[in-house]
Amino acid sequence: MTIFSKIVRGEIPSYKCAENEEFYAFLDINPVAEGHTLVIPKREEDYLFDLSDEELSRMMVFTKQVAKAIKNAFPCQKVGMAVLGLEVNHAHIHLIPLQNEGDMDFRKPKLQLEATAMQEIAKKIWQEYTNIPK
Ligand code: 5GP
Repeated sequence: MTIFSKIVRGEIPSYKCAENEEFYAFLDINPVAEGHTLVIPKREEDYLFDLSDEELSRMMVFTKQVAKAIKNAFPCQKVGMAVLGLEVNHAHIHLIPLQNEGDMDFRKPKLQLEATAMQEIAKKIWQEYTNIPK
C-alpha cells in the first residue's frame, strides 16, 4: 500500500483541504509555498497518466475546484499545477499558489511550517472549497 493510501485511510495524518467520493486533497508536508497542495485519487494507481480518460477528467474537475479554493484562500497571480511523481508512486497533482515562476522550483529549500500554521492553511482552503459551486 502507498503512503498516500494510508493517508486516505486515515492511518497517517494529513492536513485535509478538500474531498469527494473519489478524490482527496491535502497539504504537501514539505511545501515549496504556503498552500502547496496535493490532489490524489483515493484509488491506488502509480502514474497519473495511466488513469482512464474518464477518471482523469473527473480528477481534473476536482483539481479545478481545489485550485479555485487555494486562490481564494491565498491571493496569488495563478495557481500552478505540476506532475512529478518521482518520490511517491501514487498518482498526484501538485497545486502551488504562484506569485512568480520561481515558486514552482522544487529544488529550492522547502518551507518549515509549524503544525498550527499547516492546520490554519488547510482550514482556509477547506472553507473556500466548501463554498465552491460543485
Ligand atoms: P513527487 O512524487 O511528486 O516527486 O513528490 C511527492 C511529494 O509528496 C513531495 O512534495 C513530498 O513532500 C510529498 N510527501 C511525501 N510524503 C508525504 C506524506 O507523508 N505526507 C504529505 N502530506 N506529503 C508527503
